Amino acid sequence: MKNAEPEETPGADQGAGVAPGVDPKSYDSRCLQPVTALPGVGPKIAATLARKNIRTIEDLLLSLPYRYEDRRVVTPIAALQEGQAATIRAVVERIRGVGGRGRLRRTLAHVVDESGGVDIVWFGFAGMRFNPQDRVVLSGDVTRRDERLQIVNPEGDVLGADEEPAGLVPVYSETEGLRQRSWRKLIAAALDRFAGDWVGGVPDGVRAERGLATVVEALRTLHRPPNGDVDPAALLDWRGPARRALAFEEYYVFQLGMAVRRRMLDELPGVRLELDDETLRPLRAALPFALTAGQEECWRAIAADLSAPRPMQRLIHGEVGSGKTALAILAAGAAARNDYQTAVMAPTEILAAQHARRFAELLTPLGVRVALVTGGLARPERRRLCDRIALGMEQVVVGTHALLSGDVEFHRLGLAVVDEQHKFGVAQRARLATKGERPNVLALSATPIPRSLALTIYGDLDLSLLRERPHGVGAIATRVVGPEQRAAAYRELAGRLAAGRQGYVVCPRLDRATDGKADALSLYEELRAGPLAGFRLAVLHGQTPPAAGAEIVAGFLRREIHAIVSTSVIEVGLDAPNAAALVVENAELFGLSQLHQMRGRIGRDGQPALCLLLHGADCPAPARERLAYLARCGDGFAIAEYDLRLRGPGELLGVRQSGLPRLRFAKWTIDDLELLQGAREAARRTLDADPLLADPRHEWAKMTAAQRWGAALSAVVEG
Ligand code: ADP
Ligand code: MG
Repeated sequence: MKNAEPEETPGADQGAGVAPGVDPKSYDSRCLQPVTALPGVGPKIAATLARKNIRTIEDLLLSLPYRYEDRRVVTPIAALQEGQAATIRAVVERIRGVGGRGRLRRTLAHVVDESGGVDIVWFGFAGMRFNPQDRVVLSGDVTRRDERLQIVNPEGDVLGADEEPAGLVPVYSETEGLRQRSWRKLIAAALDRFAGDWVGGVPDGVRAERGLATVVEALRTLHRPPNGDVDPAALLDWRGPARRALAFEEYYVFQLGMAVRRRMLDELPGVRLELDDETLRPLRAALPFALTAGQEECWRAIAADLSAPRPMQRLIHGEVGSGKTALAILAAGAAARNDYQTAVMAPTEILAAQHARRFAELLTPLGVRVALVTGGLARPERRRLCDRIALGMEQVVVGTHALLSGDVEFHRLGLAVVDEQHKFGVAQRARLATKGERPNVLALSATPIPRSLALTIYGDLDLSLLRERPHGVGAIATRVVGPEQRAAAYRELAGRLAAGRQGYVVCPRLDRATDGKADALSLYEELRAGPLAGFRLAVLHGQTPPAAGAEIVAGFLRREIHAIVSTSVIEVGLDAPNAAALVVENAELFGLSQLHQMRGRIGRDGQPALCLLLHGADCPAPARERLAYLARCGDGFAIAEYDLRLRGPGELLGVRQSGLPRLRFAKWTIDDLELLQGAREAARRTLDADPLLADPRHEWAKMTAAQRWGAALSAVVEG
């Protein structure tokens, strides 16, 4: 990095070592101090910063400029030209606000330099902070109004007596009550006094190998861009070297946190189950089918975990429809026969209800009580149920994240099952486990992300792969359908329904959408009135009240409802064997893995099924190409791989609603993939060499991991 000061640059041949003269403790004791440790920061500024979640000096330093103002070239006012973006340095001659106090407010000014004068107008409140006689630097677009040049809404600063910010000037996110100038002062003080020895957690050897900057080098580059030939766009680019260094650091600490979490879990004894023949035989006999070879293999791994002293931490990472639930049922049955309770957490009420039913079908005949905790329970009812759970009278307790709430306490939790675990975060998974004393954890995921990525993201879990489906694959025909064949598609669906099969129609939107994309409510009306008249239809979506949703699903299972029109809520888990047709409207708006999940809802009985992916008239060619790939390929893992190459893990899993932690710099994008995997590899090497992170050189990383992932980590340890 060009601007790095030489003494801060670790020697490339230094291997794993701390830069000379650096006290590993100094970062801890200094940058983690509250912002009030900075000169001139009192409670008022601290409160302003706190509103932006900036509490420590570290937080402040990690708040990066969101753009740069290029003041490298200052134009004399006389040389300004219409249509130009220019920076001027001038004195405010006249300034006044007009237009009242509302949004119509404007500030008009006239500013002058040695060469001439120009009018300035700010709309809104931006101009209010300038006063007559202020020395200012302003950047904005030059326009013409009534034959006079003016600059509209310029960004700028009042210059102090001796202050001449020039070059690339960082611009920070506007915080009410904190001007750009104050921002820059704070950052400068923090950089100069506190960040000097902030090397970061990534071992020097790894940094050198990958050519990564230290944290402070990266921060210096971004907060104080070098003067000279630097493209501000490159500084803002997440793939640029400075931001990449910060992202790598973050991924590395995350990976380390996950690995440390895993090690801590392994060290303490957990719930151990007795799995002799006598325990298992009746359970296996209760299953209405023989396990597939893949299920057998997974079950062997699960059984070994359950009977080992350390608690199980296993993810069954499976193809959709591969029969993961049966494994959870076996494990829950085994726990019950060992006098332990099982919690089963699912992402939707519909899925929770389905699980409760399936677990009960197999386990109740064996004397195991299965309860369902839903959000819809009336308070007294819920209290009675919670009492029964706390007394150990219910052995399998199924629910949504409602299970995490404080009133759900277990008598003896031995197994925590998290279904569709990619919909939950690490912290939620950990929280469910704290309901017992280090219970076994079984996570199920039907989003078949590539194995390499799974290892990276779910680094604290052991993985079992389940690829095959009990009834085989290939029975589902998938076709991509353009708008001109839409009517024919619904005729085909009607044909299947008439033949006694059932179907789903999925829309990207629920309510009448302004963007012209299909929505479930209008489509339901349309289909009922025309193409599917005479069939019984129901609408199901995220806002359907739980009881009504359960009723619809039950009706569908009893085959009283021919087709469900829905949003993507049917994506996860729903298991109705007779469903044999799926129509997706505006399929181009869904991710491929998501579509594959939806497609997993049909053909579950092994009979031929039909999936029609409708796209809009404005669907771009690459999107059609993606759909065509899905039509050709039935392998969820291959689809995930393809999806991942196109869109990156964040989009593949949906950062917002997935278990992916939201990181500050790391974006979970496709550009980050190599970085992410590199970080995992680096974390693994660190831990292999120093399993307890006892080496002072790893102190930073350990502290930072604990600080950032501490809540998730300690939840497990203290549990
Ligand atoms: P997923 O892995 O997508 O959660 P499920 O557990 O819902 O899949 O199983 C899919 C369907 O396959 C269910 O109807 C289930 O009863 C059935 N099934 C599971 N295992 C077997 C098996 N070994 N033989 C036959 N059917 C099975
Ligand atoms: Mg499932």
